[in-house]
Amino acid sequence: MAKINISELDPKRTVVVATGNAHKVVEIEAILSPAMPGVRFVALGELGDYPDPVEDGSTFADNALIKARAAQAETGLSMAVADDSGLVVDALDGAPGIFSARWAGEHGNDAANNEKLMREMAEVPGDRRTARFHSSVVLVRGDEVLCGDGDCEGTVGREPRGEHGFGYDPLFLPSETPGRTMAELTLDEKNQISHRFHALEDLARKL
Ligand code: IMP
Repeated sequence: MAKINISELDPKRTVVVATGNAHKVVEIEAILSPAMPGVRFVALGELGDYPDPVEDGSTFADNALIKARAAQAETGLSMAVADDSGLVVDALDGAPGIFSARWAGEHGNDAANNEKLMREMAEVPGDRRTARFHSSVVLVRGDEVLCGDGDCEGTVGREPRGEHGFGYDPLFLPSETPGRTMAELTLDEKNQISHRFHALEDLARKL
């Protein structure tokens, strides 16, 4: 990632986005910038190579706050935003939840996570396969903390389908797109119904 010198930024008009994912920065900026005119959004990775904080919170919002506070401390900038999200399956008592990324052991192994989800859900009948993606987005401004939450409701499929997206997308059928998995939607289609979109809209309303 190309680097920006922190000393060249106006601290009153910069929000550091605590993610390594460039798509998330674009999505976050598109939704929050109308509520924060004149503010520039920069990815944490553009400012330096910082270690990931330990995400040991017990909720999505706790973990988003840990990431936002770490970005604030590492960069010295007062405004930071971070998100934390995952899949919440009713028949599994809310699992994988905050452990979504590392559910099968290794962090970010989507194939292993999806295998595990299929296994755990193998005996679960159709009417009990409800689930949702949840996202919490936290913006810190100095000591102030603002949090937005959003869900995308749906069901867990029996086999993976689709080439787009990431994570559990191939096994998740959003209620709003009957018959299609999240991985069968284009990025634009996903962005209009996603948990992150709803969480960002919720946060934007509070700004
Ligand atoms: P993160 O907090 O956005 O990094 O998400 C943590 C984990 O939740 C990811 O590694 C995925 O396994 C899962 N996840 C979060 N958002 C999505 C999504 O939009 N589609 C599929 N999986 C997701």
